[in-house]
Amino acid sequence: MSDSAPLLQMQDVVAGYSDSDLVLNHVTLEAAPGKVTAVLGPNGSGKSTSLRVLYGFLSPREGRILLDGSDITETSPQERLELGISLLPQGRSTFPEMTVEENLELGGWLWRHDRARLRRAVEDTFERYPKLADLRKRHAGSLSGGQQRILEIARTLILDPSVLLIDEPSVGLAPVLVNEVYQDLEALKDDGRTILLVDQNVQAAAHLADYIYTLAYGKNDVHGDTEAFEGQLGDVIRSWLRI
Ligand code: ADP
Repeated sequence: MSDSAPLLQMQDVVAGYSDSDLVLNHVTLEAAPGKVTAVLGPNGSGKSTSLRVLYGFLSPREGRILLDGSDITETSPQERLELGISLLPQGRSTFPEMTVEENLELGGWLWRHDRARLRRAVEDTFERYPKLADLRKRHAGSLSGGQQRILEIARTLILDPSVLLIDEPSVGLAPVLVNEVYQDLEALKDDGRTILLVDQNVQAAAHLADYIYTLAYGKNDVHGDTEAFEGQLGDVIRSWLRI
């Protein structure tokens, strides 16, 4: 881990989707404040499951989740959202029949009883994403894949989270759109947000990341500062092909 104390930690977590399966086998991940931490590994190694545990969708059987040193293991996803943790889930998560604006409002549902605050947050988001503002009355389902992904990212920002958990942001996108999405993630890092990122696009994720963890078979494999991985990443990926 890098010099500053981690903001979000998953400590020695054991988790699975049923009593009989073991998907995470004593996994530890730490995200330093204001940095991008990438979690890489072959398919099925437990990356998305780690994000689900960090967001509270799945309770660990053993181990703890800490936010800024406080134990939040027993908190719900809603409570984690209130604490400033936001998740961009894998796959399409916009509502196609709803407009861009309505989709953004849904991202701010915690403030649904404070209409003025919610509207302000939506307008702030449009200021940040002028291209989305031009599309505000369009149904999300009519947007291109790249526009939808930007909308999904924008929606995770409505409540102004300090920690972003991002699952496979580049999946299904053409290379030029992957670049656009990653430029956006870079800007979020420049804002000082803490990002924990999972992506099959290892090159893109590693390029953005300050720190890299790798998982294999639901266990921690190698980890270190991104520079420490320079020149080694190819070997690491080749080792996954043998798994
Ligand atoms: P990765 O993100 O590294 O591809 P996942 O965390 O998605 O890996 O999956 C790890 C393991 O957990 C896989 O064996 C997968 O089949 C299993 N798994 C993932 N999601 C579920 C689920 N909802 N129910 C049961 N098993 C699941």
